[in-house]
Amino acid sequence: MRKILVVGAGQSGLQLALGLQSHGYEVTLMSNRTADEIRSGRVMSTQCMFHTALQHERDLQLNFWENQAPKIEGLGVSVAGPESQRVIDWVGRLDGYAQSVDQRVKMAGWMEIFAQRGGQLVIHGAAVSDLDYFSRTYDLVLVSAGKGELVSMFGRDASRSPYSEPQRALAVAYVHGLGPRPEHPDYDAVRCNLVPGVGELFVMPTLTNSGRADILFWEGIPGGPLDVFNGVKDPSEHLSLTLELMERFTPWEYARATKVELTDANGTLSGRYAPTVRNPIGRLPGGGLVLGVADVVVANDPITGQGSNSASKCAAAYLASILEHGDKEFDESWMQQTFDRYWDTAQHVTKWTNAMLGVPPEHVLNLIGAAGTLPPVADRFANGFNNPADFENFFYDPEKTGAYLASVAGA
Ligand SMILES: Cc1cc2nc3c(=O)[nH]c(=O)nc-3n(C[C@H](O)[C@H](O)[C@H](O)COP(=O)(O)OP(=O)(O)OC[C@H]3O[C@@H](n4cnc5c(N)ncnc54)[C@H](O)[C@@H]3O)c2cc1C
Repeated sequence: MRKILVVGAGQSGLQLALGLQSHGYEVTLMSNRTADEIRSGRVMSTQCMFHTALQHERDLQLNFWENQAPKIEGLGVSVAGPESQRVIDWVGRLDGYAQSVDQRVKMAGWMEIFAQRGGQLVIHGAAVSDLDYFSRTYDLVLVSAGKGELVSMFGRDASRSPYSEPQRALAVAYVHGLGPRPEHPDYDAVRCNLVPGVGELFVMPTLTNSGRADILFWEGIPGGPLDVFNGVKDPSEHLSLTLELMERFTPWEYARATKVELTDANGTLSGRYAPTVRNPIGRLPGGGLVLGVADVVVANDPITGQGSNSASKCAAAYLASILEHGDKEFDESWMQQTFDRYWDTAQHVTKWTNAMLGVPPEHVLNLIGAAGTLPPVADRFANGFNNPADFENFFYDPEKTGAYLASVAGA
């Protein structure tokens, strides 16, 4: 049977490793951390995943936490006015629910299952020199190591990477004790709070090690008033800062957050990175080739909550390409075609995410405003998080936006 090495045990690497394993491939998974280290380590993401991405997990019967994780049935948008009041406020209903399972829970669990099913798990932080050796002993080496150092093997694709600097400073806090959303307490929703010129606050339920929790996630424009988490090491100071900023910029969210406590001492995260698309094929010093997966090759800012979704879609596309290729050699042209198949979907995510990082043009402001009075617009916007390709039809081009809003208003 064909031997495949997967380097990096995150959403994409584990989903691929488990998928290939279920089809009888001889898979080695290399991770720089053990399952226990991941489970008890720092939070990594807010990892909200929408229907299509979750369905890829179901297809592989990897949806072990589906019944415990909160079902996110809506997506709400609020826009803050100059007096920190809500000038826009609506909730769109998702056609299929979304879910967030703390990656500490999911990746640790999937890693244990992979090993229990006979997969070879190697705990080792791979270096380029290791890959040089392994590329000779495996039929295919997949690098799914996220935004870690191995990305240096994959050249930046400047034509697909409009930003060379981070566009947001990120600050995440996992909490217990958040009150229900005031407007629709009967179902769970992601809340996207836009503070023009300042940044965004996302609030969403999740399943973590200690059960149901909520995530408070600030995305701050660099150099602005939210860009204050650099160097904050103390988790309680991180939470205090998060809450102070909520009181100042999004008082309607702060009102339900006055009694929150961190889920655990590792329940905070801060950082920043430049959104980057890379060339998918890495060339090793010894001449071998490796194929980059998910964040390694397409890392978008989390403003649109797409990275885990994309990682799931990338893993599903790559799995299909590997299966279809049978016993043929995994050569350069196959690698390029495999990535291109993923890029068919990923390009829409990158385009939309990069657009959301910029200052919204007037027709986008009109669209977001109109969703407050036209529920079908709110629903379509919300469902765009599941299928960002749909934004081509009504988001970028002022004429298409205008025609779409007129058609909904007239209906
Ligand atoms: C603050 C924040 C919020 C986010 N919110 C969302 C969201 O709501 N929805 C969403 O869809 N996405 C979200 N994302 C993005 C999402 O978390 C990532 O895009 C996704 O996890 C990428 O999956 P991956 O498999 O490519 O890499 P990762 O999940 O990063 O996994 C890579 C793994 O490889 C390991 N590794 C690294 N280097 C090596 C090495 N040399 N050898 C061996 N192992 C190595 C790492 O430790 C890690 O376990 C968010 C990201 C951040 C930072």
